[in-house]
Amino acid sequence: MKRVAVLGGGPAGAFAAAELSASGLRTVVLDEKLAWEKPCGGGLTYKAYHQYPFLMHNDTPKKLITQTVLAAPGGGEVSLKLNEPLLIYSRYDLNRLLLERAERAGAQIEKTRVLGIERQSGGWRLKTKSGALDADFCVVATGARNPLREVGTELTTSDTMSALGYYVPGENDRIDIQFLDRLQGYIWVFPRCGHLSVGICGKGEPALALRGRLERYMAEKGISSKGASFYSHVLPSLETRAWKKNRIAGDGWMAVGDAAGLVDPITGEGLYYAIRSADLAAKALLSEAGGLAEKLHAYRRLLRKDFSADLEFSSRLARRIFLGRFLFGSVPARMIQFTRRSPRFSSLMQDLFAGTQSYLGLKNRLLQNLNGSLFEVAMSFGFSRLLPGGSGT
Ligand SMILES: Cc1cc2nc3c(=O)[nH]c(=O)nc-3n(C[C@H](O)[C@H](O)[C@H](O)COP(=O)(O)OP(=O)(O)OC[C@H]3O[C@@H](n4cnc5c(N)ncnc54)[C@H](O)[C@@H]3O)c2cc1C
Repeated sequence: MKRVAVLGGGPAGAFAAAELSASGLRTVVLDEKLAWEKPCGGGLTYKAYHQYPFLMHNDTPKKLITQTVLAAPGGGEVSLKLNEPLLIYSRYDLNRLLLERAERAGAQIEKTRVLGIERQSGGWRLKTKSGALDADFCVVATGARNPLREVGTELTTSDTMSALGYYVPGENDRIDIQFLDRLQGYIWVFPRCGHLSVGICGKGEPALALRGRLERYMAEKGISSKGASFYSHVLPSLETRAWKKNRIAGDGWMAVGDAAGLVDPITGEGLYYAIRSADLAAKALLSEAGGLAEKLHAYRRLLRKDFSADLEFSSRLARRIFLGRFLFGSVPARMIQFTRRSPRFSSLMQDLFAGTQSYLGLKNRLLQNLNGSLFEVAMSFGFSRLLPGGSGT
């Protein structure tokens, strides 16, 4: 393989390019914008910066947040102190950090739009805004709005969420998460350096209605949209059946990040999966074993083993978590009440925020802890007085 073309220079593309060029492969990154303020919260979980410490240890401006306030209708609110803080970047800064890293590793970075790709005798001919280019292999990292229809995940409307919001001038030191009535999604307020990213994501509801919900929330909380800039984008949120037939690799290409649909259908977390999938794609491509077909197979296997089976399971839970009912209340409301009243449940929420609790392991942990958590909740309501030996007996 002489030259790899990485189509798209967001977190997934930039990370893949850094890995490939560091191993001596001639790699070119083609991105129409390069570093830009891609609509995003910019939040990286502990799981991401623990596994990729350079995300924490650099001079790029960032915020480390340890306090989160969760709220839901009928559940009030709860303040959760994060033992493992959330790391928040502006996307311009994060993209720049990753692209510079790729360039230092030897990748060639080119600002241009890829207009089309054509398979030709074992390689690719790429048509770009600035001309044509040949490559032996393509890493497809063009994000959720991938315009190259023949490669990457085939996203249907039901496999996406709308996500929109405002960058609001201001400072804050906590994250707010607000669940809403009958919405598979949530509102977030993420503090960044010099401004807040206030946004909403939701599945199955038109963007205009989501914007209305967000603006009502902002008015209630006194968050002015004066001087704020509006953003909107699409977020992959694959249904379970879509995970089963997800098009992540094919003859001469592998897709990474949003272009491969690799986003958590519950939280919308995509940055870690963009970087992790790029890492796994590079590992598979650079592996000694076999020919190209084996490398594609290895990539699918690595993804499945590492996290995509967990994300598939998350797609099964998503509706139940946002829209389900438990003990005569909504699941988000109960989640907040349990977090407030049960140290065990609060510790589970901590781990979910840190990204260290898998969805596949969630059921067992909940079952193991349910009696204990219910007991703690009951105690917090003062039920101890009703027990033998309690002050009420
Ligand atoms: C509103 C919103 C909030 C979010 N908040 C969070 C969060 O807080 N934490 C989190 O983990 N995830 C979050 N996400 C998800 C996260 O933004 C994505 O998962 C992440 O950006 C995926 O990275 P990527 O490199 O795959 O794609 P992208 O970041 O979308 O990068 C794709 C790149 O490809 C380029 N490109 C596309 N087409 C072409 C073309 N034809 N030619 C040349 N270049 C092209 C684009 O310019 C872009 O730079 C959020 C998403 C949204 C929409």
